[in-house]
Amino acid sequence: MTSYPEYVPYPFQAEHHVATHPVCTNGLEDHSHRVVIAGGGPVGFATALGLAKQGVASVVLEADDSVCFGSRAICVSRRSLEILHRLGVGAGFDAIGLPWTGGRSFYKGQEVLRFEMPQDDNQQFAPMVNMAQYSIEKTLLDGVQAYHHLIEVRWQTAVTGITRNEDGVRLAVKTPQGAYQLHTD
Ligand SMILES: Cc1cc2nc3c(=O)[nH]c(=O)nc-3n(C[C@H](O)[C@H](O)[C@H](O)COP(=O)(O)OP(=O)(O)OC[C@H]3O[C@@H](n4cnc5c(N)ncnc54)[C@H](O)[C@@H]3O)c2cc1C
Repeated sequence: MTSYPEYVPYPFQAEHHVATHPVCTNGLEDHSHRVVIAGGGPVGFATALGLAKQGVASVVLEADDSVCFGSRAICVSRRSLEILHRLGVGAGFDAIGLPWTGGRSFYKGQEVLRFEMPQDDNQQFAPMVNMAQYSIEKTLLDGVQAYHHLIEVRWQTAVTGITRNEDGVRLAVKTPQGAYQLHTD
């Protein structure tokens, strides 16, 4: 019988993060926050980084315990790369990304699609770079962690409710250590 090596779905090993529970009084966190971001995906981390670069502190609430490592983006557009570089987190992508400018698709040996994307010497980046989303999220997270004085990431913290009030917003969250509420401007 043929023996196969152990199946490893991805070469990526996500780091798992523990949940935290802040100091609360009657279920409401004592400290109020200027900005709270629900979701630590590419958009949430990019938002936190963009705010931090303007000196604005934020808390990112992420339901999961790691960056996403399932099947997600593989083709990253030039515009996304421009944004990532502006946020200061794109420098390492050249080493792991595969840039491309056009494609050809075949069906049973016959070419059924051929395209070229606009590209010239004035462009800093290729129109598309192939790179797994977990690499992008990990790079964004590294950038976020470099701003630990302004950005706090709370893992395993799922938003379950949002209530607007006169001076901001109150969020209800649940964590493995229990539920609580927090206030943000
Ligand atoms: C199979 C697949 C292929 C794709 N291919 C491409 C591609 O080639 N190129 C491309 O540009 N895009 C692609 N995309 C789209 C890309 O993945 C999304 O645009 C991108 O992930 C959106 O980022 P986001 O931060 O807005 O949301 P998400 O990545 O979904 O992040 C949201 C985060 O919020 C967290 N969350 C959810 N609910 C709560 C809650 N209640 N409380 C706290 N946290 C919560 C989630 O755990 C998650 O981490 C693909 C998507 C899929 C599924």
